[in-house]
Amino acid sequence: MSTNQRSIVVIPGHGIGPEIFHVALPYIDRVCSHYGRKVTWITGDIPENSPCTPRPVLDLMKEHGLGIKGPLTTPTGEGTRSYNVETRQELDLYACVRPVKWYKGVPSPMVYPDAVNTVIFRENTQDIYMGIELKNVNSFEISAVERTFKQNPDFFNRADEWNFSLKPISRLGSQRLIRAAINYAIKHNLPSVTISHKGNIMKATEGSFLRYAYELAKNEYSQTTFTEQEYDARAKVNEEAANVWYDEMKREGRIYIKSLIADNTFQQLLLNPEHHPVIATMNLNGDYFSDAVAAQVGGLGIAPGGNINYETGRALYEATHGTAPRIAGKNMANPSSILLSSVMMFNQIDWVDVADQIENDLAALYEQHAFTSDFSDIYNKVHKASGKKLNAVSTSTFMELLHKRLELVHA
Ligand code: NAD
Repeated sequence: MSTNQRSIVVIPGHGIGPEIFHVALPYIDRVCSHYGRKVTWITGDIPENSPCTPRPVLDLMKEHGLGIKGPLTTPTGEGTRSYNVETRQELDLYACVRPVKWYKGVPSPMVYPDAVNTVIFRENTQDIYMGIELKNVNSFEISAVERTFKQNPDFFNRADEWNFSLKPISRLGSQRLIRAAINYAIKHNLPSVTISHKGNIMKATEGSFLRYAYELAKNEYSQTTFTEQEYDARAKVNEEAANVWYDEMKREGRIYIKSLIADNTFQQLLLNPEHHPVIATMNLNGDYFSDAVAAQVGGLGIAPGGNINYETGRALYEATHGTAPRIAGKNMANPSSILLSSVMMFNQIDWVDVADQIENDLAALYEQHAFTSDFSDIYNKVHKASGKKLNAVSTSTFMELLHKRLELVHA
């Protein structure tokens, strides 16, 4: 197959997923054809009540190596395991990469949303997402639990029901994710990588993640990075000398590997997002942070993502949002998140012209205030005092406007 042709798996998903792909794919095809490129879309369906991710879908991903998917329903509290988690683990897509940035014109609850330009590297295969869970543990059946509770028998006996979700964190699983984040910072000439963790409380797991990060920086990136750990050690001895050393490292263009506790990460992403161009963190933290920071730039409707294995080159791009059941089937969904995920995907395969065209078309629409209801709601809240009011456009109208913009550019 020539470099201008590519087969890509598309998993439409559930809820708003299929209706977005229905209108988004013809537009993407048109952009591709303008640049002499052609995608053969291979559909992989995951039926909503399937007991697990169907083997043929996983096989398609293994065969073609590249895919894009819509959101998938995951029942809460009981029922099937998450198809998302299963797919990421089965294909070993260990890095969930979620860039979050503000586009001019997009309404935001923030006063300075333009300061947000952060890429979150969320570890995808470990943590409580491994699904090692025990429900209603009512006897001392596991040795570690036994030991812990024997120390607090009154408390253990007072509670009526105990449940556990285990949180496995390994060196290999953590370091490959942190490596991906550091490589990204090097490639894009970014000044720092923030390791976000709750290691002050979960010392064995999140504390180890931070330790693995500093270990990796020392062992593999001693010429390209410097660490907060080393700065602190130097500052204890002589703060002034440590500051001179810090400035010298910066002048050399080295990347600063620093640590931030998870709760403070939420605060810092609101107050000083520009200090955190790259964040590397574990699975659950990354899930929380990416939704929270997306809200600063317009919400989940505009937040793209990619699940990537940098060694095998396999990648499955996806919207960060869920199935949005309340608006599904109503022609109201914002297609931006899926389209921006395709931008990430086309950049990965070096179809930069296609990626740029899609991103520029979207940016032009935002500047014109062509907003689906998720954006127009924020816009109307922000402008309530002035009495300015915008009506939302439907998903299909939004896509028609994108087609018009494409025609205009290529007229
Ligand atoms: P959600 O993302 O579906 O919805 C959260 C809010 O954002 C809702 O108000 C929704 O209307 C709005 N929203 C989301 N995407 C939008 C879009 N493109 N345009 C306009 N508005 C949008 O999250 P939820 O309600 O917590 O979850 C619903 C279901 O989706 C659950 O089953 C959950 O497990 C699943 N989910 C799947 C994924 C995934 O497949 N990657 C991610 C998150 C949630």
